[in-house]
Amino acid sequence: MRTLLLAFCLFALLPSASAADRPNIIFIMSDDHAAHAIGAYGSHVNKTPNLDRLARDGMIFTSVFATNSICTPSRAAILTGQYSHINGVTMFNRFDSSRMTVARLLQAAGYYTGMIGKWHLGSDPRGFDRWEILPGQGAYTDPIFYTATGEKTYTGRYVTDVITELGIDFIDKRPRGRPFFLMLHHKAPHRPWEPDAAHGARFAGQWIPEPETLWDTYETRSDALHENRQRIARDLTRRDLKLPPPADLQGAARADWLAEKPESVTTMVEGKRVTLTGEALTRWKYQRYMQDYLATVQSVDDGVGRVLEALDRHGLAKNTIVVYTSDQGFFLGDHGLFDKRFMYEESLRMPFLVRWPAAIKAGSRSDAIALNVDFAPTFLDAAGLRVPAEMQGRSLLPILRGKTPSDWRTSMYYRYYHDPGDHDTRAHYGVRTRTHKLIYFWKKDQWELFDLVNDPSEMHNLYGQPGHEALTAALKEELARLKRAVGDEDQLADEQLPNGVDGPVARLRGT
Ligand code: CA
Repeated sequence: MRTLLLAFCLFALLPSASAADRPNIIFIMSDDHAAHAIGAYGSHVNKTPNLDRLARDGMIFTSVFATNSICTPSRAAILTGQYSHINGVTMFNRFDSSRMTVARLLQAAGYYTGMIGKWHLGSDPRGFDRWEILPGQGAYTDPIFYTATGEKTYTGRYVTDVITELGIDFIDKRPRGRPFFLMLHHKAPHRPWEPDAAHGARFAGQWIPEPETLWDTYETRSDALHENRQRIARDLTRRDLKLPPPADLQGAARADWLAEKPESVTTMVEGKRVTLTGEALTRWKYQRYMQDYLATVQSVDDGVGRVLEALDRHGLAKNTIVVYTSDQGFFLGDHGLFDKRFMYEESLRMPFLVRWPAAIKAGSRSDAIALNVDFAPTFLDAAGLRVPAEMQGRSLLPILRGKTPSDWRTSMYYRYYHDPGDHDTRAHYGVRTRTHKLIYFWKKDQWELFDLVNDPSEMHNLYGQPGHEALTAALKEELARLKRAVGDEDQLADEQLPNGVDGPVARLRGT
């Protein structure tokens, strides 16, 4: 049935734009790169000259959000243009590659398609003329890449450099006379944040400013924040902190030592050997975490610069859409956290920079609420293809061209499922508008309400506070409306959904 449907879609989507006009598309996505670690987004912690170039020459989006802030589900949402409960990937379940994806549709319409880097969807990619992917999370050094025909180990190489070079090789060797679509997915800056030697040395010992909410004690917030295990103070391991194991430890004993979460660390501070505990240790952990995180980001920034140079060399810059994004945001010590998952701003927000000189005015900016499910429709639209009805996102093309439709969305729906799971982050769903956010931790039956205008750091939970009854009721109504609109109103996904669930799609088609 799905094959027939796909065939129908492909027939209906025959290109209307002439081949010569169709833009190339390079979708560069890193893993866990928060917008607030990009210069163009006002970073206080690093500089990213190459990413900033995309913003300067193109458009910066300030309000792009993940619909489920975790790696595998976001990737599935990007490929399918569908929310997690529809595409079947709510957590780390395997993606059914026979599903309709933006890559398959572009390939069928004549695009030369490539997928290079982190895939992390558990199944072989489909819809790509060339793919070279990391197995699972992949490795920072000596990375192995799988291809359709075998595997290759890049001994002595750093993963970000290899992905960049494979991307450039894709551009160099692409068949001429056809537009191309390249998904170039970096592993960095995902945990365990292992930089290459040069970037590691550059950030070693550098003092990184602490975020205002590093010492958040979670007053007024739900039990979920109190119970989470993604805290800088107590959940970073010796491996995360790059503490060297005793030389005589080997095998399992060594692995166990590295997996420990240290409550004290003896280290050199300003030339003296000191043992750190408590607040001093938390500050030290934050520095170690951020130095490595930012060093891995810097390699990505360098790599983006090299890809832009390759486009210039080939004379392709003008009609190539270059996107830079990340599969979700990340906590950089905000609320005392690392990792993502929560619907709070730092984790929810995705960086989204788009350069396309043929269509986008340089230095432009959009505050429109956009979602990861919008990316696939946008690429199809830019290629002159009709967006299939099963895709739940909406094309950003009019916004890129400088005209936001008057009926553009003013709220978004979010849902996180992985509970119990890593970091004990409680499952929740919610709604974010331009000015407010309402979150429901459904397994705990607890709510949080934030005023994003007066409390952008989300420190004061207003739920249940006198004077907010009408606002709460309106947001609950909007949440219910959004759940109906995306076909997630029957709590289908309380437990892991099997792949290939067709029900909600069929229902959506009828509405
Ligand atoms: Ca991720």
